[in-house]
This record gives sequence, C-alpha cells and structure tokens, in this order.
Amino acid sequence: MSETSSATIDGSRAGAGDARPSGTMLAVADGVALLAFVAVGLRSHRIGAIAETAARNAVPLAVGWAVVSLVVATYRRRDLASLVITWAIAVPTALLVRTWWVGSPRGAGIAVFLVVGLVFTLLFLSIGRRGVGAHSVASGVAPPIVTTSSTPRVPAPGAARSFWLQEALSQEPGDPAPPLTTNVVADVCIVGGGFAGLWTAIELSARDPDLRIALIEQDICGGGASGRNGGFFSASWWDAPAVCSLFGDDEGMRYLRAISDTVGEAGAWLGEHVVDAWFHHEGVLRVATGAWQTEPEGTSAAEFLAARGERDRLRAIGLDEARAIASSPRFVSASFAPESAVVQPARLARGLRRVALQRGVQIFERTAMTGLERSRPAVVRTPHGAVKASQVVLTTGAWAAGWPGFRRSFGVIVDQVVATEPIPDLLREIGWTSQVGVGDGRELLY
Ligand SMILES: Cc1cc2nc3c(=O)[nH]c(=O)nc-3n(C[C@H](O)[C@H](O)[C@H](O)COP(=O)(O)OP(=O)(O)OC[C@H]3O[C@@H](n4cnc5c(N)ncnc54)[C@H](O)[C@@H]3O)c2cc1C
Repeated sequence: MSETSSATIDGSRAGAGDARPSGTMLAVADGVALLAFVAVGLRSHRIGAIAETAARNAVPLAVGWAVVSLVVATYRRRDLASLVITWAIAVPTALLVRTWWVGSPRGAGIAVFLVVGLVFTLLFLSIGRRGVGAHSVASGVAPPIVTTSSTPRVPAPGAARSFWLQEALSQEPGDPAPPLTTNVVADVCIVGGGFAGLWTAIELSARDPDLRIALIEQDICGGGASGRNGGFFSASWWDAPAVCSLFGDDEGMRYLRAISDTVGEAGAWLGEHVVDAWFHHEGVLRVATGAWQTEPEGTSAAEFLAARGERDRLRAIGLDEARAIASSPRFVSASFAPESAVVQPARLARGLRRVALQRGVQIFERTAMTGLERSRPAVVRTPHGAVKASQVVLTTGAWAAGWPGFRRSFGVIVDQVVATEPIPDLLREIGWTSQVGVGDGRELLY
C-alpha cells in the first residue's frame, strides 16, 4: 500500500512569514511603471520617440528616483511608507528639473503639470506594485488573501485517507466538530488542523485559559501531512552539519539541542494528557544500504558532533551492533540517535485534537478558509460563516503554496510512505522486535 502527499519547505530568504515581493522585484516594478508613465506622456502629447526628448523626460525621473530610493532605503524596507516618501520627494523634484530642461510648461501650467504628474505616477506605481503582489498603493491596506484551488500536487481534503488516519479513526473517531455555519468572534483564529495548528491552540490555551480560540480545518484534523507522515519524531542530529553551516556553530547547536529536548518533553506531555500515540522513545537507527549512501570519511554528522563534544547524540556504530537491532544483510554502515522516537502520527494528531477540544478550543472541521481580510480585527471567511479575530495564525502547511502572496515563499515537495501488509514473521526472523525506528539514507521515501 502506498500513499503520496506533500510537505513544505520555506525557500524564501525572508522567511515563511514574509510574503512580500523582494526588493529587486519592487524596484523592477517601479522602474517599469515610471517608464510607462513617461512613454504614455510622450504619446499623449504626440511627441515622437526622439532620443533627446525622451531622455529629457525620462532621465530626471530615473535619476531622482534612484537617488531618493537609495537614501530612503525603499527596496530594503519594502513598505508602503518608504514608497510614498520616495514618490513625494523624487517625482515633483524630477518634474521640475524636466520642466527647466525642456523649457515648458511655463507659468500656471507648471502647477497643473505637477499635479497631473503626481497623480499619474501614483497610478502607474500602484498598478506595477499590484502586478507583483505587493500592497495596494492607493489604499495602504494589504490585499486580502483569497485561497485558490490551484495548489500544485496537494491532495484535496478527504481524498485518499492515509493508512495511519484510517487506523486512528477506526480506533477512536473522537467527538464531532461540525462545520462553521454562522459568524463567530474569537481572540485567535487558527487556520489548519495539523500538528502546527493543534499544538498552537493547546499552547495558547495553556498560557491563557480564558483566550477564545477558534480553529478551522478544511478537512478533518490530521487530514494533511500530520496524519500521513513517516512517524519519525527525530532529534535532527543528522542535520547538524547543514544546520550549523547555515546558522553558525553556536546558534545551530542551540537549535539542535532545543529540538532534541522537544522529543522527551513531548513524550512526557503525551503521558500527562493520556494521548496514546504509540510514542516509543527507543532511538532511531540510520543505515546506508549502498556505497552511494555512505558519507566520505571526515564528513559524517557523527564525526561533526564528536568534534563539538556531543558524541553521545549520534554514534557511528558497527554493523554487528546495527544488525542486533535489525539484521539486514543490506546494511553497509550505520549510526544511531538514542534521543529520537517514533510515533503513530495520526493518533498523535487526533489526540491533540481531543486535548484542544477539552480545553475549550472551538474546532470547526470541513470548514475551509476562502478569504482573509487583514483588517483589525481580521476576518476569516468560510463558505457558510466567518470568524472575526484579533489574531490569525495560518498553519495550512503545503496548501499555503496555492495562495497569491505566499507562492514565492513555499516550495512543494512530494514525500512518500510505503506501508506493507503486517509481516511479523519476517520481523522476528531479522530480530527487529523493538520499536527502534530504522531509516536509510534515501530522502523523501519512508
Ligand atoms: C509522506 C511524508 C512523510 C513525512 N515524514 C516525516 C517524519 O518522519 N518526521 C517528521 O518530523 N516529519 C515528517 N514529515 C513532515 C511532517 O508531516 C510535516 O512537517 C508536518 O505534519 C506539518 O504539519 P503542519 O501542521 O504544518 O501541516 P499539515 O499537517 O499539512 O496541516 C495543515 C492543515 O491545514 C489544512 N488547510 C489547508 N488549507 C486550508 C484552508 N484554506 N482552510 C482550512 N484548513 C486548511 C489542511 O487540510 C491541513 O490539515 C513528513 C511529511 C510527509 C508528507
């Protein structure tokens, strides 16, 4: 049996929360808008594209805009205020220089020329910025998010329930959480009922039990990646070289220690809240099953950690020790992370849902956000009702890649889990009777 689903990576330098276009994109959009303004102006006055005339109109604007935007740092700040300041200084200055250079208009015509120039440059800039998905120049309000159905390769809600979720639902369907059919008011509205949304709801309610929290989920909680993943509750030590190369040794190691601590903390939390997610904290074995999966000497994560005094986090182990965990003839090298765990992910998601409901979180399943008004309070629109909330937390995982404004911040990758029929005899034969997770060096296949 196999299933295919999707997970997200944040490919933007600005981070997943910053959905604004890059400074370069904004600069290009503004440049094109100003050139279009000059071209339309020349054409409307029936002035041909004579190089000298065109230059006298375009150069003051281009130079003025470049200088002022550098001083204001318009494309580093990327906000509406810096655009307005740049426009208010650069455009009238450039238009006056152009008037002096061209020698017209004169007298009262200069004031009319300035007003028309300011209005039309603002209009062209507004169109350009809308074109790249930035703020509306005219209103100063960020555009609403309207969800689309064009998310690439992301399963439709309810389509092909995962093996894990079928198993979890057959054992514990949980209390009903009917769809939203009216308008409600909350302090926080969470959109998406996967691990991120459910843990957020639980953590917020723990910090402030009086907080009114509404969570909407287009499918059922756990219907996304959280209920259909590989089940490795990993301490991430194998990623140490990559993490430290990105963030530096100090920050990278701090991050990895914190991630590692969450495994034990989660185990304790699940026990305390009687969430039986088949959480087994017995470690994870990673093996190479071919020369192509082995790491060149001196580059392995285990060696990297040993050099930083963290030898016990991840141990390179011999084949005998690896085969004592699961005796496969295919292993050619192995390492063991004692702090990692495995879990039945859909049971975890459904257990988190139960705890959230018990804490008074209002969960509306089969309720898709169809639009988000970024007003104060914000309004989350759904087909049959709306949630008005002071704060909105978007935890929609891979689906966010289908939203205008977020597309450039997410890349969708396809990850696969293959499940076999139960094979207890074979497991006994190879001695894999513990709950140690075993993974090989392949990416995106479990
Ligand atoms: C095959 C596979 C194997 C994986 N294996 C592992 C592993 O072994 N270990 C590990 O740590 N990670 C693994 N991952 C990654 C892990 O599953 C995800 O990182 C995690 O589940 C993401 O949780 P989430 O809450 O952000 O997203 P999701 O669980 O996807 O939740 C997002 C939710 O938002 C809902 N939603 C989307 N749009 C809307 C809308 N407009 N309105 C309302 N609701 C909406 C969706 O229906 C979904 O339920 C794997 C992922 C996959 C796909």
